[in-house]
Amino acid sequence: MPIVTHVRKESSSDGSHKHIAAVKTTAGVTYTRAEVVASLDRGEDWQTKAASGHSAKIEKIKFCPGSGCLVTPYIRTNRDKYADDNLDNLPSF
Ligand SMILES: [Zn+2]
Repeated sequence: MPIVTHVRKESSSDGSHKHIAAVKTTAGVTYTRAEVVASLDRGEDWQTKAASGHSAKIEKIKFCPGSGCLVTPYIRTNRDKYADDNLDNLPSF
């Protein structure tokens, strides 16, 4: 199972928020968001892992959660009691 430790963000086209453009795994491999979605669609499991050791499952959602944003498809972490394992809070690469 790919385990994501870092994310690369890019500004949305209107500059109002950031998008997760790519992720990096414990194996040191970089995947675009579209590649992660394609893998999730094939039924593969993905999760995050924070420096603390906390981890969360990654899931596909239809649209970016940004207000009024129609970027699709998108990914997010399943909500758990920790914040540091959220995709948005992982360190950048
Ligand atoms: Zn967006």
